[in-house]
Amino acid sequence: MRIDILTIFPEMFSSPFEQSILKRAITSGLVDIRIHNIRDYSHDKHRMTDDYPYGGGGGMLMKPEPIIRGVESIKRDNQAAKVVLMTPQGIRYTQQKAVNLARSDSLIFICGRYEGVDERVREFWVDEEISIGDYVLTGGELAAMVVIDAVVRLIPGALGGGETADSFYEGLLEYPQYTRPRCYRGMMVPEVLLSGNHQEIAIWRRKESLKRTTIRRPDLLKEAKISKKDEVLLAEIKIDLKQG
Ligand code: SAM
Repeated sequence: MRIDILTIFPEMFSSPFEQSILKRAITSGLVDIRIHNIRDYSHDKHRMTDDYPYGGGGGMLMKPEPIIRGVESIKRDNQAAKVVLMTPQGIRYTQQKAVNLARSDSLIFICGRYEGVDERVREFWVDEEISIGDYVLTGGELAAMVVIDAVVRLIPGALGGGETADSFYEGLLEYPQYTRPRCYRGMMVPEVLLSGNHQEIAIWRRKESLKRTTIRRPDLLKEAKISKKDEVLLAEIKIDLKQG
């Protein structure tokens, strides 16, 4: 997969992309991430990338020309790349969206700053607008990092064989997890996990996953993949919860 990022703060990306899973995915060639400074596409002698908004009002707006030149330059050898604008006005980012993006061969992220980007960029060059939540950040860089992190770990091989069914897989939250020691300050690991009985462990995990989702995120259950066996477990959970 190839990922291009357009930003006026390229340095912000160095640390997150030099650690752990992202670093390994980059060095092993699973993902090719290229950071582009939008200023390099400005023909202005001061390399300006922003200007005052028409109609007045506070703040500055990112000019269209440097961003569009950047997109066109990246697309020259990569025509099918999907252009993603980071904006609080976009579709809220979810695991399903990450799964969809991870199927793309090539993505271009535009990171806004100031009061955002000129509307014509959004209207004519952007394929998708993504928000990472209902709050306003100073810039699109952190938001793009969040999106890219969740996408890259979905690329087959990125987790180095440690792939598991994380939260949101099949629409549920993950079950509780434990590691050694078996007993910590009197708190025991659930017996079933020590039993070596894989079938019982799988049933316990599924039930805990359904229970956790029922308690914390009942909204997810409406969209989750629920089997006949799950329905039996959900009925048990209902009784368990009623009994406290
Ligand atoms: N005036 C804009 C608005 O009200 O929609 C907000 C601009 S914000 C201060 C500057 C930039 O940060 C945006 O252009 C966008 O790239 C990024 N940004 C801020 N919040 C975001 C969010 N929740 N998700 C994705 N990007 C965000």
